[in-house]
This record gives sequence, structure tokens and C-alpha cells, in this order.
Amino acid sequence: MTPSEPAQEAAGAAVAVDATRIPVTSVPAVAEGASCHGGAAEMSRAAAAAGKSDVLDLYAKDYPAGPHDQPQSMCPAFGSLRVGLRMRRTATVLSGSACCVYGLTFTSHFYGARRTVGYVPFDSETLVTGKLFEDIREAVFKLADPENNDAVVIINLCVPTASGVPLELLPKEINGVRIIGIDVPGFGVPTHAEAKDVLAGAMLRYARNEAERGPVAEPSQGRSARPSVALVGEMFPVDAVGIGRLLEPLGLAAGPVVPTREWRELYAALDCAAAAMIHPFYAASCREFQAAGRPCVGSAPVGYEGTAAWLESIADTLNVPREKLDAARNVILPAIRGVFANSPINARITLSGYEGSELLVARVLVESGADLRYVGTACGRTRWSDIDREWLESRGVIVRYRASLEDDLAAMREFKPDLAIGTTPVVQKAKELAIPSLYFTNLISARPLMGAAGAGSLAQVINAALKNRERFVEMREFFEGVGAADTAGVWEHAPLAAPRAAGGAV
Ligand code: SF4
Repeated sequence: MTPSEPAQEAAGAAVAVDATRIPVTSVPAVAEGASCHGGAAEMSRAAAAAGKSDVLDLYAKDYPAGPHDQPQSMCPAFGSLRVGLRMRRTATVLSGSACCVYGLTFTSHFYGARRTVGYVPFDSETLVTGKLFEDIREAVFKLADPENNDAVVIINLCVPTASGVPLELLPKEINGVRIIGIDVPGFGVPTHAEAKDVLAGAMLRYARNEAERGPVAEPSQGRSARPSVALVGEMFPVDAVGIGRLLEPLGLAAGPVVPTREWRELYAALDCAAAAMIHPFYAASCREFQAAGRPCVGSAPVGYEGTAAWLESIADTLNVPREKLDAARNVILPAIRGVFANSPINARITLSGYEGSELLVARVLVESGADLRYVGTACGRTRWSDIDREWLESRGVIVRYRASLEDDLAAMREFKPDLAIGTTPVVQKAKELAIPSLYFTNLISARPLMGAAGAGSLAQVINAALKNRERFVEMREFFEGVGAADTAGVWEHAPLAAPRAAGGAV
């Protein structure tokens, strides 16, 4: 393989756009003040009227809603922003309301982005006259410096999407730098997890088109001599290495993790023999692998049974001889069983999160011996988690997709767990009830999950947390009567009911 030429063709229709001329595109105004706190239906209607219905229809298909349209979660665009910020030599720019950008920037740096978040501000006038699009275009040209960047990503947030700001009219490539514009509105993409797929899928599509046109750059560490399995879903780094070890006896290698950390890894990912949908919500990414003729495989090598089943589906998909599969399983599986035997979990647990790996964690907990009653995930149901859902349901675990905070809290009240694993508000409520609890994102997601390493590491953190019960009870007793709900914090008195509600004078 040789490095690609600056792909003239890549610009496609955009090459026809004169780089010195800025097209002025009038866009319809969207209701000001509409945000994630209300007005979603109105914004969806506005976006459709402004020509974004194809994008919204695709999102509705890729990330199906229901039973709740949108679980309570952070701004979805954070997922795309995070994927962009983690890519080397990639500039990521937001186009949206200042308050949204403030929150997204804050969250990015809270999670250690260490990259600049680009921002093209707007006001009512620049939005309505189309000047916002000109400003975005100007920013893109400034950032398209091949010395510094391989790609520039522009993310339309809610208001620019609802106003139809036409990122598709941006040049597809400037000076050899790829330009990728995506709409990531909170009223179209349900969770930040699925927003990661929006950008990962867009980049895979771009890279696939490049690879279809001619030679592309090979991975910086060279190509594996063995057929590879691309790993779809952000995971703890040790897990990617661990999966590589599981694949080795099958004569396979672990390919890049998608979302990737640099552009050329996208080609290597597409060059795989199969894609493992470790996180099951990457619908757009899967579509690109399938378009490149690569089969996708669901679930992941978690626990004893999960690892056995996953190795078998990989072997079936890639025609690995049965003897090779049996030999691999004979080496790998007893080790996992040994870890479970040495580090059991003896507790009733409820589990919820918004990362998309909740069902995998649930499987490890059940195999560790935990009495798991409920698993809620903010992500939608896809075929890639069917195996895990069926496995869990056959063991009496309630699985709830697009779970709301109310679902998670109701499960905690109903099952009275010894430990609640969940999102921040779930953990907060558990503390009030003196139930030991763990944050899914910070404490569970940030640990190995696959193979033997996963079995051992979860038991360690969970058994340590279970020992906190006495401390929680003591703390609750200590703080009893200090103030709760409306009288929490600095508020000493419960607020008066609204005069109208109380029947008083207005
Ligand atoms: S961009 Fe995010 S924070 Fe802003 S209105 Fe949309 S969902 Fe809310």
C-alpha cells in the first residue's frame, strides 16, 4: 500500500464550489429558546422543514426510540465531540448555542480532552441570513492545514440542525484535509453513546470511499500477518489486548478499536476479516463494515459462557477449523472458570448505565454468582445485544432498553439490592437509602471486562464496595433530620406552595 494522493475526487460535488466564493444560504429561523429542556417536537418539525428529514429518518432507524424517547442523560453531542477530540491530527468544531457549547466544552475538559474545542458562534441574524454557514466555511478553510490536521469535523448542535445549516455543502476536502460535517441534535440522537457512532460511522464512510478509489496509507505499526477482527466500541485498553490474546489461538489478530485514534486506523479497521460489535449500538459503523463486505458479530468475550459463545461465532463467521476452536477454548475457558471460583460475588445487585456495555457487565456479574435482578441501559435495542439479552432473561434478569431514571429507581426500590450500580442520580438516591453504590461510568466502565481479567476485576471493586454498608447506615443516622429534598443544603424551610395552588391571593 502507498499513501493516498490528495484525493481530488474525494471532494466530489464540493470541488465544483469555488473556494474563494462563499455561498450564502438562507435558513429558516427556529424558535429561539428551544432546547433539550423543551421544544424537541417543534425542533424536529423545523429540521424536517429545513431539509434535514433524511438525516433524522436515518437516526430514527439507527437509534430506535422507545419505550422512552430519550432517557435522561448528558447532551448527546458529547459523544461525537469526544470521538473527534480523541483523534490525533483532527480539529473538532461545534456549531450551536453558546450555552450548549459551554456545557460540552466543560465536560470535555472534565474528561481530560487536552485539545481545543473549536466553536463557530451565531446569533439570530447570522442564523437567519445564512452568515453562520459562511462563518463555518471560513473556519473550516482556516483549519484545513495539512501540516497540522488530517481531518476537520464540524458538529451541528440542536439549533443549527433545526435551522437546516447545510454542512453537506462544505467542501469534502481542502488541501488534502478531509472535511466531515455531521448533525448531532439532541432531538434526533437519543444518547451520547449513539452520537459516538454518528461520527465514527461518518469517518468510516469517508475512509471506505477513499479506499475504494485507490491505495491508502497503511497502519503506522504495519499490517498484521493474520486476519484481523476490528473491535467496535470504546473499551478499557487492556480489553483490546486481552481480546487479541483470545483470538491468537484461532490464527486471528485484534484489529483497531473503533472509534479510532488516528485517521489511517480507519483503513486498517475496514481491512478486517470481521467486525466485533462489542458495543451493540454502533449501527452506522456496522453499515460501513457491511458495505465493505465485512461481516459483523454481536456480543463480546465476557465471562465463561460469553467467551465460549463469542469464540464460536467468530470461528463460524471466519471458517476457523473446529479443532483450532476446541484447542483455544480448552486453554482459555478453564482459566476464566478458575477466576470466578476464586472471586465470587455474593450479593443482590441492580445495574444501570448509559455506556452501552451494561448487558456485558451484567453477564459477568451473574457468572460471578451475583443475584442480579435488573439491568437498565439508556441505549436502544439492536440485534447485536440479542444474545446477551436472551442469556440474561433466561436467568430471570429484567432487561430494560432506553431505561429512564424512574425505571432504575423503581428497580432499586423493588429489589432492595445490597449494591446499586448506576448513573449519578441513581447512586445519589442509593446513598440516601444507605445502599452501597458504584458509578457505572467511572468505576465499572473504567476496568477490564473481557476474559479472565474482567471476571477478577469486577469482583474486586464490587466486594470492596459491599463492605461499606455499615458506614452508610452510620452516615444516614448521623445526618438524620439535617434536611432533605426541599430543605436540603442551605434551605432551612420548605418552600410555600404556589399561592394559586394553595388557593391564596395572586
Ligand atoms: S445541543 Fe445538547 S445541550 Fe444544546 S439544546 Fe441540544 S441537547 Fe441540549
